[in-house]
Amino acid sequence: MDGMDLPDVSLPDRGVPRADLFADLRARKTADADWRGGRTWSLVYPAGEDVDAVLREAHNLYLYENALNPFRFPSLADMEREVVAMTAGLLNAPAGASGSMTSGGTESIMQAIRVARDRAAAERGVTAPTLVVPRSAHPAFAKGAKYFGLELVHIPLADDLRADVTAAADLITDQTALVAGSAPNYPHGVVDPIPELAALAAARGIPFHTDACVGGFLLPFMERAGLDVPPFDFRVPGVTTMSADMHKYGYATKGASVLLHRTGDHVLQYQAFLYQDWPGGLYGSLALAGARPAAPIAAAWTVMRYLGTDGYTHQVRRILATATKIRSALTDLDLTILGNPVASVIAFTGPEIMPIGDRLDDLGWHLDRQTHPDALHLMVSPEHDRVIDTFLTDLRTAAANPGESRGTEARYS
Ligand SMILES: *Cc1c(COP(=O)(O)O)cnc(C)c1O
Repeated sequence: MDGMDLPDVSLPDRGVPRADLFADLRARKTADADWRGGRTWSLVYPAGEDVDAVLREAHNLYLYENALNPFRFPSLADMEREVVAMTAGLLNAPAGASGSMTSGGTESIMQAIRVARDRAAAERGVTAPTLVVPRSAHPAFAKGAKYFGLELVHIPLADDLRADVTAAADLITDQTALVAGSAPNYPHGVVDPIPELAALAAARGIPFHTDACVGGFLLPFMERAGLDVPPFDFRVPGVTTMSADMHKYGYATKGASVLLHRTGDHVLQYQAFLYQDWPGGLYGSLALAGARPAAPIAAAWTVMRYLGTDGYTHQVRRILATATKIRSALTDLDLTILGNPVASVIAFTGPEIMPIGDRLDDLGWHLDRQTHPDALHLMVSPEHDRVIDTFLTDLRTAAANPGESRGTEARYS
């Protein structure tokens, strides 16, 4: 990573007039990806202007509040518990389950890792904990392993790009603190064999985490829409914790995810941090952060109530209709979809795939690049149905005339 030098700028002596300031902000923003125009195929998950308006209003109501102290702002504590309860219901958590909202998928996963590590030490005397996850698991697992001192062990992928269960069996040991699988994973959109992996863990008394950061608010509604969804949630015995991102397909603004525990007692027993050895009085927190923004909690609660089951199911249908169009266009173009993606995530490859991506960049689209094999990657969001025909026209143009690759530098910029 270069460019860590600071820019040559200092605090202005006098405040900048508001009009100039916002003109400046708008000018700076022109270089950013145009998500509103449907140009981004990851990072942003717009669901329509009505949802935007609801989120904006919730944010405005909770500009300064602090979710650190549930006694001072009881409305936030209530909303957080209601978001967790609604999510627990969607993911078929049993009575007695509990959880908390976090700042995002990474925090949900890192908390699950920390809780599992502490449980392993307390309940099984584990001293050299390992974390066993599919090769395709999100980097948040590697980050958690690094932060919390676990050894990361990768389960190789089978030909269908799902975690190889036979290989996993040999990698799980009595030092394993946590096993995890994705529903679906980010790179290929495939759902790991959750029942088989969770059973391997349970047989040794080891917790299992389903990472449903992407699928937590998609798969339940696909199921309601009558589609086949592989087992992934708390109905699978052995699944002990789950993560589901509100700020992806829950359509909340950034800073909102849910971590669920099958055994609710673990929230206080292992996740909570309580401290009174300072002059400031009792300090308690379930989060990695101290002071916590209120707006993402309010926005998450509001959008869930606003959309309801009907609204989410409608959004899933929009996504699936777009994904179906993309799939058939890729087949027509002789491009190969990796694995058998379950919903909104599509990775595809073919000869000259990176030059195709470069051409798409030139045409104003933003697709992630992947490796092993080289592939382009799309995450479909509801609003893509407004631009899909233009996108497919441009994809055909790019595939017919990929042009010169601009090389690695351009690819990853
Ligand atoms: C996005 C994602 C995460 C991490 O979520 P953040 O909100 O970016 O921290 C974890 N797992 C999967 C499968 C994801 O797609």
